[in-house]
Amino acid sequence: MSSGGRTDDAEDLARAGSGARTGESFDARELVKSGAAWELHCRATADSAVYDHLGFVPDAYLAGLGEGTAGLAAELCSAGVWERAGGGYRILDRDAVGRCQDLASQLSGEAARVRARIRARDHARAQLMPELAEAMVVTPLCAACGAPATRIELVGPGQLPAQWEQWPGTVQSAIVRQRQPGQWYLLFTGIAAGNGYGDPIDASRAGRIARALRPPWRFVQVRTAGFYDDAGFCQDCDACYCYRHWHVSESGYGHCPRGHGKSLDPHWSP
Ligand SMILES: [Zn+2]
Ligand SMILES: [Zn+2]
Repeated sequence: MSSGGRTDDAEDLARAGSGARTGESFDARELVKSGAAWELHCRATADSAVYDHLGFVPDAYLAGLGEGTAGLAAELCSAGVWERAGGGYRILDRDAVGRCQDLASQLSGEAARVRARIRARDHARAQLMPELAEAMVVTPLCAACGAPATRIELVGPGQLPAQWEQWPGTVQSAIVRQRQPGQWYLLFTGIAAGNGYGDPIDASRAGRIARALRPPWRFVQVRTAGFYDDAGFCQDCDACYCYRHWHVSESGYGHCPRGHGKSLDPHWSP
């Protein structure tokens, strides 16, 4: 997630995130008991300003920081410093958010202009090539237990799947034999079923899936990928759950921990 060049900026920002202001009515530092949770709060607040999702901590960002962040996030929520919001957490420490925003805009002068140019270029590309696909592996985590809920891998033309080396030789040679130039490959492990060693797909389907699964994940966006189980996302919670937490019945119908139902039968159609 982090790149070497912005280390100094990140430190300044983290200080901005933690710096106390006199006369504050909401003293977040008082509310947060553990040092680790406080550190996460400062870092995530600073990064929310840098990465243009000010005041919001996407689940995917936390997952990228590694193990243990779910527990710290829970601590920040019970301290009233964060709250759960669709696909992540909202930072309630407005002072820290404000300080990071101010400093990020000062620090980033030139960097912001470069980023704006990159964004403008990407936007122009997206206009020209709406189905632009990118190779990727995503594993949305269960909002209840943090385990990987589903896994979606897009393999670009001429590339090999991440776990290729572990596949049987017969499978490898069959795939190599059948592969067409320019073809994409989809590997999908859903809640109740997946597509095994994958299926070839065309670039436009790959583009649709890549766009649908670009974080921060939202149900309305993820569903456009067209997976039978919406990659494990619950429409009403706007969150993802694993097989265990979907409580899948024998008929293939699931209920999320908050009681919302949905069919998880791959052959089910309305
Ligand atoms: Zn779970
Ligand atoms: Zn739900």
